[in-house]
Amino acid sequence: MATAGPIVMKFGGTSVADADAIGRVVGIVKGARDSSGLPPVVIVSAMSGVTDRLLELTEAAGRRRDAHVLNGVADLSRRHFEALERLLPPESASDVLAEIAAHLDDLRALLKATAILRSASPSAHDAIVSSGELMNSRLLAAALQHGGVATAWVDPRRAIVTDDAHTKAAPLADPTREAVAREILPRVAEGRVPVLGGFVGATVQGVTTTLGRGGSDYSAAIIGAALDAREIQIWTDVDGMMTADPRIVSGPRVVPHLSFGEASELAYFGAKVLHPSTILPAVAKDIPVRILNSRRADGGGTRITADPPAADRELAAVACKRHVTMVEITSTRMLMAHGFLRRVFEVFERHRTAVDVVTTSEVSVSVTVDDDRHLAAIVEDLRAFAEVNVEADLAILCAVGDNLRNDPRIAARVIGALEGFPVRMVSQAASRRNVTIVLRDADLALGMAQLHREFFE
Ligand code: ADP
Ligand code: ASP
Ligand code: MG
Repeated sequence: MATAGPIVMKFGGTSVADADAIGRVVGIVKGARDSSGLPPVVIVSAMSGVTDRLLELTEAAGRRRDAHVLNGVADLSRRHFEALERLLPPESASDVLAEIAAHLDDLRALLKATAILRSASPSAHDAIVSSGELMNSRLLAAALQHGGVATAWVDPRRAIVTDDAHTKAAPLADPTREAVAREILPRVAEGRVPVLGGFVGATVQGVTTTLGRGGSDYSAAIIGAALDAREIQIWTDVDGMMTADPRIVSGPRVVPHLSFGEASELAYFGAKVLHPSTILPAVAKDIPVRILNSRRADGGGTRITADPPAADRELAAVACKRHVTMVEITSTRMLMAHGFLRRVFEVFERHRTAVDVVTTSEVSVSVTVDDDRHLAAIVEDLRAFAEVNVEADLAILCAVGDNLRNDPRIAARVIGALEGFPVRMVSQAASRRNVTIVLRDADLALGMAQLHREFFE
């Protein structure tokens, strides 16, 4: 589908960490405005580290560390006001100063309530963590306006309508499309750049929700789909999707093109540069997604589309999920008996725990989980009908590439490249776009480096 809507530009926390970084973002948005008719729509995260801090303060408030909480809010306040001071002369800053102060007042009140109640309800939790994005979007909107860009701050709680699954809410497509048409499109038509905090939405009743950690990417895709955006740009602190996690492998390269399928697998299996849900709304509307570096705006980045130019590469990239736990369920009596797998998966579902990798043998089923909060209860339920063995501190290493489908030798080489490492599970997805290998977390860094060397160096 050809889309003629505006470009959506999302800036992550490191791209707006301080006044210098925000200044660079102003330059990038100005450039985007010059080169096309429609103004872009800008989505922005909290300043880097702010969401972590808000979570920590919520927890501290529940334990009545009142002084610590007050100091924490004072730090956040200082960080935003210092950036403001460097970005805007005092005579232009009074409105945004009052707006940020109002968000800080709400934050103090919410933390105070949390202290009195000794815990934060899910809705209070979301209201607290949303303040990072709300404040930073005010700051960026003011900085853009001061830089000569006509802007309109938009409250994301009026634009993204979600279910009430607090802390991991899912968007509701139709109400969101209506809300976006009402709140964002008129601003674009006026030639103003709408600026919204990412990560945040609200229920139909208007109760604040959040979309899960890293969810600003998802916000960009949701808004992009609702607007039929021409392109969704994810601006971050690396040159694009790299052939491996740069925190684990030294010297990975940028992958210039990815298919939607490849990007989804990489995001799901740990390539943090993209939130795993980001690709879905883009696929639904066939909107290209680009990953770009806000510190080096002239790089080509990574372009993600339905049909990337045929690449002769064997793999697109490798990704990993660390510190996962394997649960091995054995039943000589019942395996392969009708209904056994259903019983197994019902246990995981009952405890709201997602499984990532699944393998079966004649007498056992092995699965990995990365959320082990309900593990004890899961194991107890499984033991009612099977033997259960649990192994923690494992990692999933995932090799991704559309060409895995065409050439069976590639999968064999992936497994061969890990020779010498004790492997716990191996699986190839039905899409045959990935090969996943579960190994000890202690072996991950070396294993990933070896795999990367085999295919990319
Ligand atoms: P932002 O604040 O912009 O959302 P994130 O920290 O969420 O940024 O994501 C960017 C980070 O993702 C990079 O700094 C990098 O460390 C990490 N990362 C992990 N795997 C990859 C990969 N394959 N390619 C690029 N970055 C990756
Ligand atoms: N600020 C949120 C987080 O840190 C959302 C995001 O940055 O994408 O999870
Ligand atoms: Mg992110």
